[in-house]
Amino acid sequence: METTAEKKIILEVDHLKQYFKVKTDSLFKPKTFVKAVDDVSFQLFEGETLSIVGESGCGKSTTGRAILRLDEPTDGQIFFAGKNILELSKKEMRKLRGDLQVIFQDPFASLNPRQTVKQILDEAMAIQEVVAKPQRMDRMLELLRYVGLPPESLDRYPHEFSGGQRQRIGIARALAVNPKLIICDEAVSALDVSIQAQILNLLKELQKQFQLTFLFISHDLSVVRHISDRVMVMYLGKVVEIAEKKTLFDSPLHPYTQALLSSIPTLDPTLKRERIILKGDVPSPMNPPSGCRFHTRCPFAMEKCKTEEPALKELDRNHFVSCHIAENLPQ
Ligand code: SF4
Repeated sequence: METTAEKKIILEVDHLKQYFKVKTDSLFKPKTFVKAVDDVSFQLFEGETLSIVGESGCGKSTTGRAILRLDEPTDGQIFFAGKNILELSKKEMRKLRGDLQVIFQDPFASLNPRQTVKQILDEAMAIQEVVAKPQRMDRMLELLRYVGLPPESLDRYPHEFSGGQRQRIGIARALAVNPKLIICDEAVSALDVSIQAQILNLLKELQKQFQLTFLFISHDLSVVRHISDRVMVMYLGKVVEIAEKKTLFDSPLHPYTQALLSSIPTLDPTLKRERIILKGDVPSPMNPPSGCRFHTRCPFAMEKCKTEEPALKELDRNHFVSCHIAENLPQ
């Protein structure tokens, strides 16, 4: 098996912080911030699918938005193909957006309802100047073929398609500019399970065909299991575990990952997994718990967990965990 040391890094996120200022009604109150992403670092290798999972509010979508610079990060660095994208001018960033595409959860909201599919695809190619005007029609027909839509789709509007077909249009639009990395933000969450499987298989085929890299953001562990090479688990703005998919699903080490996985239904009666019910709600990211952020809900929390934040450490090959107990387990 290829090791991470032999793979080429396409994206490197280094100590990323994304804080949002909370509006107060008084000038004299101290400023408060929602610490949506708080010191997150990870690497993404060319041609792989890294999924980010966690409950709502864990910072997974905010991380994706920061990489796309849809929100300007508070601190940290983001390197894409070796360039620090936070230092790029607006013009340079616009050019880079061709390499860095996004597919959102709701294709209906992200496709202009007043444009036909032809106009949508033509506009994407024109902005990035990837295909000269005379060749664009051939390219559009080719894109429709890749995503499994008939040629007559070109003259139709987004509302004339089903949810799954609209997501295929969103994928065609992303492909139109020959991207290297696609961020899929809950890209199949709004679809029925059978359509989800079709879109996930399509993404996998296209990845193979065009050597694409995916950063796949999802709350759905069944979907993540289907599509990922590696998985990164986030809790309250922090990374708690990163591992190859099989390792993470077979031998999770962080108590939060263990609880998340215990909630996946299984059809195999021999695989009896005890459901771990977490107590309480996710604390507010405005005032996250001290020490390990998970200590208020962790069934194994010790005194040390309340005061000392565990570092993200490589406990086994390519398996990173931030937990005081996990780091002392015999490997
Ligand atoms: Fe639980 Fe402590 Fe590990 Fe945090 S560091 S996950 S509180 S055992």
